[in-house]
Amino acid sequence: MTGPTSRRAFIAGLAATAAFPRPAIAQALARVVVVGGGFAGATAARALSQAGIDVTLLEPSRSYVACPFSNEVIAGLRPLEAQVFPFDGLDAAGVRMVQEAALAIDPDARRVRLAGGGTLSYDRLVLAPGIDLRFDAIPGYDEAAVERMPHAWKAGPQTALLRDQLAAMEDGGLVVMSVPANPYRCPPGPYERASLIAHYLKVHKPRAKLLVLDAKDAFSKQRLFQQGWAALYPNLEYVPLSGGGEVTGVDPADRAVMTGFELYRAAVANVIPPQRAGLIAAIAGVADRTGWCPVDPVSFESRRVPGVHVIGDAAIGGAMPKSAFTANAQAKHCAAAMLALLTGREPVATKLINTCYSLVAPGYGISVAGVYQPGPGGLLVDVEGAGGTSPLDAPPETRDLEARYAEAWFGTITREVFG
Ligand code: FAD
Repeated sequence: MTGPTSRRAFIAGLAATAAFPRPAIAQALARVVVVGGGFAGATAARALSQAGIDVTLLEPSRSYVACPFSNEVIAGLRPLEAQVFPFDGLDAAGVRMVQEAALAIDPDARRVRLAGGGTLSYDRLVLAPGIDLRFDAIPGYDEAAVERMPHAWKAGPQTALLRDQLAAMEDGGLVVMSVPANPYRCPPGPYERASLIAHYLKVHKPRAKLLVLDAKDAFSKQRLFQQGWAALYPNLEYVPLSGGGEVTGVDPADRAVMTGFELYRAAVANVIPPQRAGLIAAIAGVADRTGWCPVDPVSFESRRVPGVHVIGDAAIGGAMPKSAFTANAQAKHCAAAMLALLTGREPVATKLINTCYSLVAPGYGISVAGVYQPGPGGLLVDVEGAGGTSPLDAPPETRDLEARYAEAWFGTITREVFG
């Protein structure tokens, strides 16, 4: 029995015999390959392994570098090492780790081709490749530009580069941030970054200024951020889309950022470009023309390629934002749905929760929470009245508590996923 078809036929045959309980047999024999060891993929691999599935996790990196709290690294408030999580914990949890990238998927043969030349067969596949940056979206911007204008939207060397550029900047310099239109990874992330860069400048370069150019007019936790900025950061200027905030081009050599109205020469430029699902999603055929992956909101199975499930940032989550919290929640729901499908049961629709904390300053936290359910059009929609944000005009003790909750959440999720 070598190929996936004969294996599936074997599973079906065994499941049809009366001597064994059906779910146990199918589960024990099912092979799942998970592509990507981030918050989504590592959570799914762990959950499936705990349920007795034979799981292989493909991830080219030796350790995971987490984006949540990476804005603190940029602002010099935290070492980059605090963001690094080795995959040893997954090995210990019974997940077979293969330190290679997936290069191609053959959905008919149910096979994954690996960067090292090998192949892996699967009964079901989970794609959790996160995002890729769209280097074609801004005139003048390309892969080489990220050395001059770091995005720092994938944590690691880019985070360190932006931190170091800020540290090396003369006092009095202009820092320019550009923020893309929706959807993108971590909707409140750019505004937390703006806050913490403004904090860094206030403390270390009091004559410097931060200009935030935004390709939209409204953003997550907007009133809370803007209340904090008004109180703390006279050095931060925010330009929305309607004020000419959309970036129309860049010149990396000159660190120049252009809008329809102005040309800004920055001392440090943090260009966060538009994004799409990680490349393997397009190669597998699960991404649509938007660059993201439409999925069934109950099973997270691709609407385009049967047998392939897409979770985390790469998936179109409807109203559910692209966050580590979401990735973790979707992974657990996807694993439960996959177990149902592997044992001939219908996946059960349930509600999913997301909470996103942001720091406006050290000891000044704010949050937004939402609850989501499958809705019309096959998208995840808000459960009306179930979510909310931190109160405006809260006392400092409340903001301090929320900053602590943020730390506690990060410790909990990283221990659960990678520990
Ligand atoms: P990723 O974490 O990107 O993981 C994808 C993995 O797939 C990577 O390890 C990659 O190496 C691997 N991969 C890609 N292609 C392949 C391939 N072909 N083969 C094998 N492996 C592959 N979220 C929160 O909830 N709270 C926060 O406070 C928060 N703060 C943030 C701050 C910043 C500055 C940023 C940028 C993001 C923040 N986020 C936050 C968002 C969060 O980081 C992402 O939503 C989350 O990482 C998504 O998880 P994922 O598993 O989908 O993708």
